[in-house]
Amino acid sequence: MAKKEFKAESKRMLEMMINSIYTQKEIFLRELISNASDAIDKIYYKALSDEELVFNKEDYYVKVTVDKASRTLTISDTGIGMTEEEMESNLGIIARSGSLAFKNENEAKDGHDIIGQFGVGFYSAFMVADDVVVISKALGSDKAFKWESLGADGYTIEPYEKETVGTEVILTIKENTEDEQYDDYLEEYRLKSIIKKYSDFIRFPIKMDVTGSQPKEGSETEFEEVIEEQIVNSMVPIWRKNKNELTTEDYDNFYAEKRYGYDKPLKHIHISADGAVEYNAILFIPESTPYDYYTKEYEKGLELYSNGVLIMSKSADLLPDYFSFVKGMVDSSDLSLNISREMLQHDRQLTLIAKNIKNKIKSQLQSLLKDERDKYELFYKAFGRQLKFGVYNDYGINKETLQDLLMFYSSTEKKLVTLDEYIARMPEEQKFIYYASGESVERIEKLPQTEIVADKGYEMLYLTDDIDEFAIKVIATYKEKEFKSVSSGDLGIEADESEKPTEAEESENKELFEAMKGILSGKVKNVKASKRLKTHPVCLSTEGELTIEMEKILKSMST
Ligand code: ADP
Ligand code: MG
Repeated sequence: MAKKEFKAESKRMLEMMINSIYTQKEIFLRELISNASDAIDKIYYKALSDEELVFNKEDYYVKVTVDKASRTLTISDTGIGMTEEEMESNLGIIARSGSLAFKNENEAKDGHDIIGQFGVGFYSAFMVADDVVVISKALGSDKAFKWESLGADGYTIEPYEKETVGTEVILTIKENTEDEQYDDYLEEYRLKSIIKKYSDFIRFPIKMDVTGSQPKEGSETEFEEVIEEQIVNSMVPIWRKNKNELTTEDYDNFYAEKRYGYDKPLKHIHISADGAVEYNAILFIPESTPYDYYTKEYEKGLELYSNGVLIMSKSADLLPDYFSFVKGMVDSSDLSLNISREMLQHDRQLTLIAKNIKNKIKSQLQSLLKDERDKYELFYKAFGRQLKFGVYNDYGINKETLQDLLMFYSSTEKKLVTLDEYIARMPEEQKFIYYASGESVERIEKLPQTEIVADKGYEMLYLTDDIDEFAIKVIATYKEKEFKSVSSGDLGIEADESEKPTEAEESENKELFEAMKGILSGKVKNVKASKRLKTHPVCLSTEGELTIEMEKILKSMST
């Protein structure tokens, strides 16, 4: 039986495809610029093996031109161009990628800067244009051709005049509709900002004619319009530069330019990994807490680039919640993109990168703690609470990662100390890590329960944050030392035993205790004599797991 080919209503297919793939119309520019960059890259790779072809950097660029009067937007490049046949197959067949084929043919030479792979990006032009014209002259050919399509019923190709090798894509931008301001795509500032957003790190210059004004000759008050050609993109991504050539100021500028925050970063982390998965990353630990940090509105995530092209503005999968304060970007050529290049398939590479990044952040925080204590304390003031939530959340599975990074106020050092530092100071006979909780250091110091531990000369950790004690309970033991609240029944302080109240003391006051229990009924469980008090007449203590402070918090949460 003769096999028949599927037929498709191409107009509908095209519409369905572009509108279902892309969530934002503005990405058409990213796609066309990426194609232009690929076309230049192809000449670059050819020149590597072809001695007759010299790659003169200055000759290669992309140019974006607007003509409001004719509603056209032109993206031209000095890249490799297309022959008539190439136009037929690359622009005439949906999902045919000449770039993917090029990459496969040239596997030996590292063609890994080439962006295209799916063979659909070009058609995104029809999201904003009624009419798309492509004029191209291929390298090594003396003929040029013009391809044109109104998106609906196919395309035409005819011979055309073009002096230089390269391609021009001319879009006739749609008229405004109620839902969409297509006019925006004819505005310089809008185009510039789209280029900055997605294509800032394309390796070749992206030029635009930008209108400015300058004083008229011979006049100080009158100005005239001037048109100046500008390079809009930064080209060399800072993350591809050598760390040794970069200063802290370079990183700070990048942080500000990218609007990661309005503060200055406390620390930057520059990673160039080429192990199981290749990627570059620049991460920042901010200095101050963003105003919405501890709210639901705060969105964690890192920018994700594939070969220098922005894929996602906030990839949440790259950061664990407890490090959600970290800002920055990751660029990798190893990612499996989905067809829109807006998202990733959830894949092994991404998981690997995320794990790698998590470990890097942890070790950098540890070295900050070790070498730059002041900075670490600033960091801890801003984000310590998040680390403590991290210990408590998810049933404590992250406590091993985080516990070394915690700090609490010390009763003897009068400043924040780590658990390690506490343990190092413990006298040999001290059994527990003691802590006391309350609203503030001043209040805790007045607690009767702290007296006996302080008298013994033992250090206590003062917990003043809601989350503190919950985190401590999750850690439970640190380096084999158990945590002990000063208000718990058994403090494990030796003097306790010998100084137990005598039977006589208990029985002499039996009536008084019973009377007090009556008065406080429903409020306390028991009233008894104690040797724990020194200068205070009375104190409250708890039996069982929860301390008074935790009970208070739980109560306030449940109401
Ligand atoms: P992709 O870039 O994923 O391959 P596109 O739909 O964006 O898919 O482009 C299809 C093909 O058209 C490209 O692979 C390339 O061969 C060709 N092409 C598109 N734009 C240009 C250009 N400016 N110069 C040369 N070839 C181009
Ligand atoms: Mg493309």
